[in-house]
Amino acid sequence: MNKTMLALAALSLAAPALANTPSPRPTLEQAADAALTHDMHAWDFVEGITTEVGPRQAGTEAEARARAWATAWLKARGFANVADEPFMMETWVPGDIARARVTAPFAQELAVLPLGDSAATPAGGIEAEVVFFRNVEELRAAPAGSLKGKIAYISHAMTRTQDGSQYGFAGPARWVGAGIAASKGALATIIKSVGTDHHRNPHTGGTSFPEGVAPTPAGALSLPDAANLERMFARADGRPVTLKLEMNPRQIGETLSGNVVGEIVGRNPSLPPVLLACHIDSWWNAPGAFDDGAGCAIIAAAAKNASTAGQPLRTIRVLMAGAEEVGLFGSVAYSKAHLSEPIAVGLESDFGADRIWRFDSNFRTSNPVLHKKIASAVARFGVSAGTDVAGGGADLNVVRDQKGALIDLQQDGTRYFDLHHTPDDTLDKIDLAQLRQNVAVWTQVVGILANEDTAILTGTPVPAAPAIMGGK
Ligand code: ZN
Ligand code: ZN
Repeated sequence: MNKTMLALAALSLAAPALANTPSPRPTLEQAADAALTHDMHAWDFVEGITTEVGPRQAGTEAEARARAWATAWLKARGFANVADEPFMMETWVPGDIARARVTAPFAQELAVLPLGDSAATPAGGIEAEVVFFRNVEELRAAPAGSLKGKIAYISHAMTRTQDGSQYGFAGPARWVGAGIAASKGALATIIKSVGTDHHRNPHTGGTSFPEGVAPTPAGALSLPDAANLERMFARADGRPVTLKLEMNPRQIGETLSGNVVGEIVGRNPSLPPVLLACHIDSWWNAPGAFDDGAGCAIIAAAAKNASTAGQPLRTIRVLMAGAEEVGLFGSVAYSKAHLSEPIAVGLESDFGADRIWRFDSNFRTSNPVLHKKIASAVARFGVSAGTDVAGGGADLNVVRDQKGALIDLQQDGTRYFDLHHTPDDTLDKIDLAQLRQNVAVWTQVVGILANEDTAILTGTPVPAAPAIMGGK
């Protein structure tokens, strides 16, 4: 016999034996370890949604396609009670014109995109002198009315950080800058993108206008274009820097969005479930691989993997919230609809796909036994136990509103703001090994929580379920 025939003979002998051997159920630890090297659920989700759906602006038909896609994906993988829970929202769309051109003293185009909730310029654009603010604090200090007829430009000095904390430092330029400038009479506002990359990609994101202040056009310049504008101020020798801005975003009124949910049903469905959250929408300018296709991929994969170790005690529910980017509409709607249904603990993934390096909870002092149990279980994945009080993510309003238990699995955010809300947020930026480390850590943590028979926040034993004990 040649080698091939030998191999075939060996296979025919081995095959019946294999067929009769029930595959042993992995322990939770083995399921998590397998995710570290083999998980394909998360990749399949994020590869699939970025390829088959792509950008999915909240409240639009693209987001509806994303919800239908995620619903089908969950059903195909055996999730129960899969639903798209609808809600109505005020919807903003970006339009298709976004131009900024310095007209004096050094005429040239700058790369710009509108911020969410920006108003449109009149057709043909507006042209005005630009007033330079190094940060939002300088803008706050500007006298009332001093920006009448002007365009405000707001800079900042954001740097890369592992914990992403500089988003909180630089973010106000985007979140509130346009509203403050408008309240002082500005015609429009442009900001240095709140981001850390060096590409000519403006970072969009939501802005806001205070009650009683009419929205104005508001846009973000790419970081290199913002730097160029700032050099112009330095070289202008006191001459005014003028800019022509044209954008046509608009509000289109109420449209439908929705929250996609699905469950791995627990052995005792009357116990409060473990809630895993992400958001299904993205901005229009990117396929949203990091933000937040990866997050939805990680939570869905973890729920699935944790259940391979056996049906969990508690139900594991995934919540892929709609319309997060534009104002947490999905999170608010979910809490409104489900506030009276207690959640055991909430976790969210919405910070890309790079490795988890620390975990925090809000029960470290109230339930130290469980906190330590999780800490020792994730240590092998290089995850340290933190001492911060977990606040949960944007889509966990329901848990915060219930004053419930929260865990934050902190991801490495060093390159997150290079990609966040830019056209560079694409699948190729996801490192499969780091994505799998996320899934492994989540599988381990979710498996522990879903089999915990004490109240997560306090550690007190939960009473036997009345429904199962024949209470009604
Ligand atoms: Zn996000
Ligand atoms: Zn985002």
